[in-house]
Amino acid sequence: MKILIIYAHPEPKSFNNALKEKAKEVLEGNKHEVQISDLYAMKWKAVADKADFTELKDPSFFKMQMEQKEEKMTEDIKAEQKKVEWADMIIFQFPLWWFSCPAILKGWFDRVFSTPWSYSWPKIYDQGSFSKKKALISVTTGGPQPMYQERGLNGNLSKILYPIMHGALYFCGFQVLQPSYWFSPAHSDEARKMYLSQWEERLKNIEKEEPIKFHKMEEYGQ
Ligand code: FAD
Repeated sequence: MKILIIYAHPEPKSFNNALKEKAKEVLEGNKHEVQISDLYAMKWKAVADKADFTELKDPSFFKMQMEQKEEKMTEDIKAEQKKVEWADMIIFQFPLWWFSCPAILKGWFDRVFSTPWSYSWPKIYDQGSFSKKKALISVTTGGPQPMYQERGLNGNLSKILYPIMHGALYFCGFQVLQPSYWFSPAHSDEARKMYLSQWEERLKNIEKEEPIKFHKMEEYGQ
């Protein structure tokens, strides 16, 4: 498989970096091709605005989706879109920040997943542009696992991350695999060792995994 890792952490000595490096090592060791977008190292522009276009169809009123349709996006956006087209699977590696992903990754979605390239009615969900591709999020937290259970203080982490897994990835057609959560890696060296070995085990057979069963468009009469 061709696997793209979108990595969003500002510190090269972080545990997120260790997870990213482990993924590269294991996947390449299993004869997959790997590309990495290290968003902080790339100084990825996080904010979507007029500067994302080399030319505007309507300079008097900025309407982003209309401008995206003209396909006059800047080279940094086009380069990421080429990587997405190349990939059979994308792994998103990031820490949980304010119950979401770091802004730099949110900005990657805002700027890269343009219309109609990544979605257009009714080419969404299982009928979406990327329905032959897989996606997987790998997320570290500050809070411990019990806080992220259904009745925990914070609530179910998969519900917290539903906007990313369903609202962005599945919306654009990706087959979304079960997420990998790494709770509180900052607090125990033992847990970190275990997490790295669990990540390695999972990635060895990642190509055989079945995606999460989300609702299909036909269930809505489409
Ligand atoms: P790090 O602190 O970078 O790493 C942990 C430890 O791993 C370090 O001691 C490091 O030396 C060690 N390490 C690095 N490489 C290796 C290796 N190869 N082997 C073994 N150990 C290694 N948490 C929540 O739960 N919910 C939130 O909503 C939330 N919001 C946040 C918002 C912000 C703005 C910030 C900054 C943090 C927030 N947090 C939240 C906490 C955050 O999720 C955690 O701090 C983060 O996920 C921990 O991962 P890390 O990679 O940053 O850990």
